[in-house]
Amino acid sequence: MQRKKAYIDARVKQANINRGIIVLLTGNGKGKSSSALGMVCRALAYDMRVVMVKFLKGMQDSGEDIFFARQKNVQIISMNTGFTWDTQDKELDKKMALETWQQAKQYLKNQSIDLLVLDELTYMLNYQYLDEQIVLDTLNKRPKNQHVIITGRAANKNLVAIADTVSKIVDIKHAFRANIKAQKGIDW
Ligand code: ATP
Ligand code: MG
Repeated sequence: MQRKKAYIDARVKQANINRGIIVLLTGNGKGKSSSALGMVCRALAYDMRVVMVKFLKGMQDSGEDIFFARQKNVQIISMNTGFTWDTQDKELDKKMALETWQQAKQYLKNQSIDLLVLDELTYMLNYQYLDEQIVLDTLNKRPKNQHVIITGRAANKNLVAIADTVSKIVDIKHAFRANIKAQKGIDW
């Protein structure tokens, strides 16, 4: 344990770089967006300015939409409802993805935003609704101290490459498969 402590102390001393990071949360298991929300809570506690851009919006508000409406320093931008999984109208979905990205892009140039969450962004890239190279370049050119959290399944290798911290959540079990309804406060 003493050797371990010495090693960890040395590593902590070595970590002397301070800058904004990209955290990428991917995988099929539950916990990506809610993990992002946990970090939003942490940031808000320090009066950091936070924006969450949701690239997929459910039919109803989630707990965070209701809660954040009561908080200062945090704003949620949602893609218009109507975005469908079984894309009836792919062109319309693409248009909405682009509109939402235009907003996200402004925040990625805004130094006063300390933390930007791009929730479910991976799908927009995987469906090729957004130009991946433009998204990657904009992320790379963001203000030096701005943190970005990206969530969504099946993050591709280019997103993994530009992220600083990447976690893949493994789906071992999900209550829904045992026919349990999505639960308030847990799933939405
Ligand atoms: P959460 O928002 O709960 O952290 P997530 O962001 O990891 O979930 P998404 O793919 O965005 O996962 O799905 C959001 C919703 O779908 C949540 O209600 C979540 O509980 C549910 N969900 C997530 N993973 C699974 C799964 N493997 N099987 C069934 N439902 C899931
Ligand atoms: Mg999610």
